Amino acid sequence: MTLVDREVRSLYSSGSYVGAVPDLQLARSNMLELKDVTKAYESGGNLINALDQVNIHIYEGEFVVVLGPSGSGKTTLLNVMGCLDTVTRGQVVVGGQDVTNASRGALSEIRRKTVSFVFQSFNLFPALTARENVQFGMDVAGRKTRESAAELLTKVGLEGRMDQFPHQLSGGEQQRVAVARALATGNPVLLADEPTGELDFRTGVRILQLLGEQVGPGRVVIVVTHNREIARMADRVIELSSGKIVRDGPPQDGRVDVNTLFW
Ligand code: ADP
Ligand code: MG
Repeated sequence: MTLVDREVRSLYSSGSYVGAVPDLQLARSNMLELKDVTKAYESGGNLINALDQVNIHIYEGEFVVVLGPSGSGKTTLLNVMGCLDTVTRGQVVVGGQDVTNASRGALSEIRRKTVSFVFQSFNLFPALTARENVQFGMDVAGRKTRESAAELLTKVGLEGRMDQFPHQLSGGEQQRVAVARALATGNPVLLADEPTGELDFRTGVRILQLLGEQVGPGRVVIVVTHNREIARMADRVIELSSGKIVRDGPPQDGRVDVNTLFW
């Protein structure tokens, strides 16, 4: 049961409501929807379907892990969900808005207000310090956030590195700045591409915990990884192989607490 399931259930079981608990899937709003999405790339004269007739509905309050080997289409999927890329066929709905044929301007507006991204290769601004990179996340969304840039950097364990530039930071430190910058937007759709790829196990768990805490009513977190262990903490695991969904459901052995993960 997800966080939102629990909240909805407790609402209905609090005494005032008499009757069956309604279908929770229907009670929750749809955050992301891909209908028959195919994304083809041309490579050396051949067409490759990086995504091949993909159908996904993601509801508010879900922590989703997208699992698959290298080249299976994970980054392409995230780019489509995050309005960074358009599709060859099919339909994409983000935050209730059909973005399939949206203009560049409209896509940019949705990215600014709705989506936050932790890029696989971090994409920090080289001329900005760690703190300024995170501040940028706040400015771009233009939303008042609970925490300052310094507080977010402290949360990711970078309290002593705030005024360093990206080239003065290790890969793992840069990755954590990228996570803090994504959190700084406060945007409801958080997409993270291999967010623990550069981190040692302990730091990785701490970052996953932080990402898990971002899930809630009206919010979703989608983490892409090739690490099967991470999938165990998900509400839902979507597995990709050669651009196709080969599995979509709760973790096989049930969901576990992030602190029990080990790799
Ligand atoms: P993953 O993130 O799972 O490693 P990707 O989504 O990056 O997979 O890539 C899926 C497939 O699409 C791969 O075969 C990759 O080579 C191909 N691909 C991805 N991006 C491009 C691109 N811009 N041009 C051509 N082929 C691409
Ligand atoms: Mg990738």
